[in-house]
Amino acid sequence: MSTTKLPAVPEPLAAEVFDSHCHLDIMVGNRQASSGDPVAQAAQAAQASIEGILDQARSVGVTRLVTIGYDLPSSRWNARTAELHSDVYAGVAIHPNEAHASTPEVLAEIEELARLPHVRAVGETGLDYYRDWASKDDQHASFRAHIEIAKRTGKALVIHDREAHDDVLRVLADQGAPEIVVFHSFSGDAEMAKKCVDAGYFMSFSGPVTYKNAGYLREAAAVAPKELMLVETDAPYLPPTPHRGKPNAPYLIPLTLRCLAEVKQADPAELASAISANGEAVFGAW
Ligand SMILES: [Zn+2]
Repeated sequence: MSTTKLPAVPEPLAAEVFDSHCHLDIMVGNRQASSGDPVAQAAQAAQASIEGILDQARSVGVTRLVTIGYDLPSSRWNARTAELHSDVYAGVAIHPNEAHASTPEVLAEIEELARLPHVRAVGETGLDYYRDWASKDDQHASFRAHIEIAKRTGKALVIHDREAHDDVLRVLADQGAPEIVVFHSFSGDAEMAKKCVDAGYFMSFSGPVTYKNAGYLREAAAVAPKELMLVETDAPYLPPTPHRGKPNAPYLIPLTLRCLAEVKQADPAELASAISANGEAVFGAW
């Protein structure tokens, strides 16, 4: 993969918006990317700095972002980074793929981090039936524990749901959902979106909504009311069209947002403003 040809900077948005989900620590190489993770390797080879990432994002109207933890070291790093940068908030959690690491001690520290003022989300947590890195039993136990942490701390619950829609909804209903629930990188169809609307869950759309073969995601976005929509990159993963295969970054949000605006037949600036308002409702005032 070429690491020199990073995606071109898109046309700036006419209104500010924010990235509800990215992984700054993976982008800047705080954690060495594994050889099985070429996208993370390419992102790290680009030698991005946090300031560089934020500046580039600001240049197109993406003025704030939420950086999301997936294990304890990542959650600590992201919480610290949010403390140091006023445009950055953090989420902390043990990812479902790492659910076997969710011991009582680890979860106690996640809860401690979740109480910090710049940490505004418990996530990403949830269920991943695509990968079997952690057993279903471990994933369910970890997910339920994170739901309780979100409720005790009053922070938004950010959910990773991969091929597990029904079980994620069932566990949320059974455990009792926190006040604010976000489906990160929403991957359901219109039917699933309707269920989220009924439950009042937020749906955060990412690069795949722009993919030619992902009509079901655009149908889901058509069903999702603007009041429950968020936009994200999941950077360095899931770059929007036409940059598949390259490392993603928050400055590419305008491409995904413009696709969503087309689906909603809305003015992109107006949609950006609506999504920014949702972001404050979910993560609190910046
Ligand atoms: Zn993620």
